[in-house]
Amino acid sequence: MEHHSLLEIAETYGSPVYVYDAHKIESQYKRLTNAFGEVSQLKIHYAAKALTNISVLKFVSKLGAALDTVSVQEVQLGLKAGFATENIIYTPNGVSLSELEKVAALGVQINIDNLDVLEQFGSKYPETPVCIRINPHVMAGGNSNISVGHIDSKFGISIHQMPLLLRIVENTQMNINGIHMHTGSDILDIEVFLHASEILFEAAKQFKNLTFIDFGSGFKVSYKAHDFETNIEELGEKLSHRFNLFCENYGRPLTLAFEPGKFLVSQSGYFLTKVNGIKQTTSTVFAQVDSGFNHFIRPMLYGAQHHIENISNPEGKPRFYSVVGYICETDTFANNCRINEIKEGDVLAFHNAGAYCFMMASNYNSRYKPAEVLWYNGGSHLIRKRETFEDLLLNQVELEF
Ligand SMILES: *Cc1c(COP(=O)(O)O)cnc(C)c1O
Repeated sequence: MEHHSLLEIAETYGSPVYVYDAHKIESQYKRLTNAFGEVSQLKIHYAAKALTNISVLKFVSKLGAALDTVSVQEVQLGLKAGFATENIIYTPNGVSLSELEKVAALGVQINIDNLDVLEQFGSKYPETPVCIRINPHVMAGGNSNISVGHIDSKFGISIHQMPLLLRIVENTQMNINGIHMHTGSDILDIEVFLHASEILFEAAKQFKNLTFIDFGSGFKVSYKAHDFETNIEELGEKLSHRFNLFCENYGRPLTLAFEPGKFLVSQSGYFLTKVNGIKQTTSTVFAQVDSGFNHFIRPMLYGAQHHIENISNPEGKPRFYSVVGYICETDTFANNCRINEIKEGDVLAFHNAGAYCFMMASNYNSRYKPAEVLWYNGGSHLIRKRETFEDLLLNQVELEF
């Protein structure tokens, strides 16, 4: 997006504000479908948890995408946004059997990642199609918070438990129609992904009624200059070829499914903040913005480095700043990084703020959650109002003493 459009949005809607460029979401979606163009049945489930604003869900649905959900509430949001039940997959972890039952009763494809639950569910509902989430124990890279394939991970059914898994399926005569993996949120290496896929294919051969194989996600997008990014075109070419070969041997065409969150929406997002002041200490020049980890926690929670740009002074001389927030705790967005000269009142744009940013916002320090704006067809559209004082008290019960 262009600087002047972003500045105009900060002016119109105030700051801080999240902005999402719908055209970027669309181009990422097309990139993915093109990369897997050789596969006859492809299904892209957008991972709702990255960004669930109802208008974003509707836009993604209009693109033709399906939906990946992790809670019954996300399923409900998806249905409200117009996704057909058969286009929603539910991939929870550690939820109660009753929540699984509730979602299955809606007709949504469920994905089970626990043998104990599988046995209970299969015994009660042998007819209901169930997908199983396998943990191939492949480290997808990134840090340990986002690698979910390792041996101690709570996610998935271990590939080493295949014998027990098969026994449960046989005993219950349940209907396994899909097989799934999601190896983590940052794939650094295509070969690692293909290696995990081979393990999944091997497991898939054991089931006769499959209609799809879901390869999860973990596609990495670049967060800063010279950052590594998953080569989706190369992955598409290699995995499509391998998948088609698998289907030939399996005896019929299956659907190849993915569940990208970050890949679809991360780069579409900008988080705009205003600089409250510049503060020099003995060792550092701080730029203090009107936000904090209450609105944007990824740098503090994951060490994520989001490129920060001074859109009020794009031609200014680069200087070194630590960008911090206004929360009464350490809330450093970026340490000692080069940004075009900053003055009080300037607007800073944090890039890659589409995925897992607004979604993790809170009211800490009793601040309002920011507004959200969708940039679509050359214009800005408010898709979430900034909170107000009333919102802070909503659902609180005020006792009189
Ligand atoms: C979070 C999640 C995704 C999306 O991961 P991204 O890294 O955002 O693409 C996909 N599948 C499942 C099961 C998830 O939990």
